[in-house]
Amino acid sequence: MVGEKLRVTVWNEYISEREDAKSKEVYPEGMHTVIASFLKEAGFDVKTATFDMPEHGLSEDVLNETDVLIWWGHRVHDKVSDEVVDRVYKRVMAGMGLIVLHSGHMSKIFRRLMGTGCRLKWREDGKKERLWVVAPWHPIAEGLGDYFEIEKTEMYGEPFDIPPPDELVFISWFKGGEVFRSGCCFYRGLGKIFYFRPGHETLPIYYDPNVQKVIINAVKWAAPVKRPMPVRGHFESLEKDI
Ligand code: ZN
Repeated sequence: MVGEKLRVTVWNEYISEREDAKSKEVYPEGMHTVIASFLKEAGFDVKTATFDMPEHGLSEDVLNETDVLIWWGHRVHDKVSDEVVDRVYKRVMAGMGLIVLHSGHMSKIFRRLMGTGCRLKWREDGKKERLWVVAPWHPIAEGLGDYFEIEKTEMYGEPFDIPPPDELVFISWFKGGEVFRSGCCFYRGLGKIFYFRPGHETLPIYYDPNVQKVIINAVKWAAPVKRPMPVRGHFESLEKDI
């Protein structure tokens, strides 16, 4: 960490916003630019990286200088290089935080960290979602009421094929009747992972102040804990007289 500022890298595949007119209209400079801008305003040291950059913008150096990585992907999950996925995986195990957004549930990195298929139900109907805070004590829920709403969203429905989360922060209700585990925390190695559901590429969800608050809180929660690497393997007794 440089000074007190947490270093955040926002990764976005950045394809829909260039190829799809509707998405381009909502996010003319890409979702990563919008996310980076409210994170900068919140006081973080923020970089962005996209799929088309060499090594997808996630070189060894970039990852070594990242405290929390944010991941948005959808169309090219399978084209993300395995070498880069291995690199991200190792950094998470060593303590880097990872926030996986929306359709990132099918990314290679998320499926690898979960060890399950990570599929779900979906419907692009632009109807209302109500996110209930089910862990009011959790730092990711700081500053929120009992619930918040997103007027127009894409539905995601259970059963979501993930392992039971270590902590569940939000459950969504959808106008169509479905429910979904929308804010899930997982611990893997020394790393903290937060999956957050909102954020379809053709809807202005990353401009929503509650959604922004959750992502800011999640960056703080997922930040690495400063401590030496734990010692593992054969270990001599600390006491000499046993
Ligand atoms: Zn979507």
